[in-house]
Amino acid sequence: MTSVDDAARRAEGALRYSLVLPIFNEEAVLPLLLARIDALMDALDGPAEAIFVDDGSRDTSGLFLRLKARQDPRYRYIGLSRNFGHQIAITAGMDAAEGEAVIVMDADLQDPPEIVLDMVAKWAEGYDVVYARRRERHGESRFKRWTADAFYRLLARFADVDIPRNVGDFRLVDRKVVEAFRGMPEQDRFVRGMFAWLGFRQTAVEFERAPREAGATKYTLRRMTRLAANALIGFSDAPLKLVVVTGFTVSLLAGLYGAYVVARWLAGAELVTGWASTILIVALLGGGNMLMTGIVGLYVGRIHAEVKRRPLYVVAAREGFAHAAATREADAPPLQRAG
Ligand code: UDP
Ligand code: MG
Repeated sequence: MTSVDDAARRAEGALRYSLVLPIFNEEAVLPLLLARIDALMDALDGPAEAIFVDDGSRDTSGLFLRLKARQDPRYRYIGLSRNFGHQIAITAGMDAAEGEAVIVMDADLQDPPEIVLDMVAKWAEGYDVVYARRRERHGESRFKRWTADAFYRLLARFADVDIPRNVGDFRLVDRKVVEAFRGMPEQDRFVRGMFAWLGFRQTAVEFERAPREAGATKYTLRRMTRLAANALIGFSDAPLKLVVVTGFTVSLLAGLYGAYVVARWLAGAELVTGWASTILIVALLGGGNMLMTGIVGLYVGRIHAEVKRRPLYVVAAREGFAHAAATREADAPPLQRAG
């Protein structure tokens, strides 16, 4: 975008802030959330929109938010056609965001909306990405804290880019970084790693992570494992290095043992009972081989997923985007009936 366009947008009172909130079965917290978001948008120093991405909720969240978007022009609703997962829901929201600064936050009020004002202050100082670092985690199980801690340690040790510790997806991102983010089509998304990769001028604000206001966590052990795998495989080649080292070690041991056997044979020793050693070697090599094939398979699987070039998500319904939709329809007929 040229600076002339930029100036024109500002002149016509274009949006300054877009809030992006992924929603998966959050009906319990929604009334409280909307009150806090309203207050936040009033407190912000420019026009703001709130984009709610309904990630295939099976409760009344979708209905509630659609209605809200119909009534309040600052609210937008995007309903994905099924549950695509937190990271993809964030992406869908960022794709739709039109503000000069885009703020991603969780819906359960674990990311306190008031912190956004601190982020905005940093943005005004000239930072392009302002992420929120958790100083303390309240109301989360010891298991969650322990696994989260181990995960961030592992990541710090092995990832190719510096992914800040104790930082989730709560962050403010400048328009130009959002545009760069849109150019990253990868399927297995680990959004905080992607922002670390993108660079630009980044800084942090600190906050206390409050307990969930209502409802239960949507991150099951399975979802957490998948996120961790995406992070490690997407942002490090440590698993591949492990394979090489393991393969090398196993082969070396087998070679040494072979040399020992040959030496004994040359020395004229009785070598009839080789059963145990044969089994041992076969097992060792078989095990190493399986491990290697498995890990290489992980990467091949990724390549397979990427080359399919599927869209990241499918939108089933939209609400509150009337103006944007109208201008687009004037240019070209819509491909799909509006939901
Ligand atoms: N979420 C989502 N899709 C999912 C899982 C979670 O959009 O498949 C949303 C959820 O509604 C919440 C945010 O992602 O707004 C973070 O989820 P949660 O609070 O359950 O995670 P935790 O804070 O326990 O890590
Ligand atoms: Mg939460």
